[in-house]
Amino acid sequence: MIFPGEWLGVLGGGQLGRMFCMAAQSLGYRVCVLDPAADSPAAAVADRQIRADYTDPQALAELAALCKAVTTEFENVPADSLERLALDCAVSPRADAAATAQDRRREKRFAQDCGLAVVPYQVVAEAADLARVESSLLPGVLKSARLGYDGKGQVRVDRAEALPAAWESLGRAPCVLEKWLPIEREVSVIVCRGRDGASVTFPVAENAHRHGILAVTIVPARIDAALAQRARAAASTMAQRLDYVGVLCVEFFALPGGELLINEMAPRPHNSGHYTIDACVTSQFDQQARILAELPLGDTRQLAPAVMLNLLGDLWFDQGRLRPPALDAVAAIEGTCPHLYGKLEARPGRKMGHVTVLGTSLQDALARAGKVCEALDLEAPR
Ligand code: ADP
Ligand code: MG
Repeated sequence: MIFPGEWLGVLGGGQLGRMFCMAAQSLGYRVCVLDPAADSPAAAVADRQIRADYTDPQALAELAALCKAVTTEFENVPADSLERLALDCAVSPRADAAATAQDRRREKRFAQDCGLAVVPYQVVAEAADLARVESSLLPGVLKSARLGYDGKGQVRVDRAEALPAAWESLGRAPCVLEKWLPIEREVSVIVCRGRDGASVTFPVAENAHRHGILAVTIVPARIDAALAQRARAAASTMAQRLDYVGVLCVEFFALPGGELLINEMAPRPHNSGHYTIDACVTSQFDQQARILAELPLGDTRQLAPAVMLNLLGDLWFDQGRLRPPALDAVAAIEGTCPHLYGKLEARPGRKMGHVTVLGTSLQDALARAGKVCEALDLEAPR
């Protein structure tokens, strides 16, 4: 194991990095963040920041020399940087695992190789592919194979005639066209796997998105136990087959009739796992720190039903006027655990924080979450 007092590193300075820093520090480690921004959420709490680009060779060398182990907090971390770091220190996730999750084509092929079902799709990589698109995939959604997140890099396509313009709008980048599905529920599973191959999963989370961005997570997901078990098993299989070391999130679409399809995976802690901070024995960030430090994995048991509400920058604006949301009103509601990421500038769609609401039952948590939504003028989860 790596001893407390030693340095752990994280590539990226966003809120996921911030919550990782806090978890690692509470285990006694010192944390160094590599990020180019002057005022990133993670750097504000880290013991040290190396302020440079993620690909800066000197900065990477410095980080690798200081830290015993390094992890990442954003999906599109350059695989080359992970490889560079791995020359001098332990790195998780490994570059090849990150690369698989970074390209929707590789990701889907990998899931299929694991014997798991994916959303029906076709690759659109060159102009000639447009004419080869099967009509059964329409209406569909064209997604850039790389660099998409929070619904960015995606265009709905209703008719074949609309395909060329859609591809044009994505810069003629390599894409996948997916069939648009009648999703019954979206769920996700966080799986944590150590260097020794031991792995655990967290309870299945049920997710609702607005405008392509996660809005609400409800845990446990309102699906039957057998389906939940299948989702957890699928996530474990993917982690094992990737020989993954770290925290991995697998997103699923549950269709009417019990079909469960892999949507995508993220090689890092995930927004849908934020509930674990307040609702589980061990949080997803604690697990990330444990894995990095080669400590045994923690207990993933959920101690209370939970509803997580994302707080986007939109809530900071009242008819165009900037004012923070009513944190005092939220804090007064029973069972609420507010988390703000210390971002100085609010922008519409920007993730500023989240509130996890715990209840004595899921119904109770939902009722309390309804009160939070009322206080914040948010749409209540159903
Ligand atoms: P991102 O990388 O932005 O999270 P996703 O592929 O997960 O991209 O898409 C974001 C959201 O858009 C999904 O969570 C889901 O709500 C919706 N979505 C994506 N693909 C489909 C699809 N094929 N059918 C129906 N809804 C979809
Ligand atoms: Mg997604």
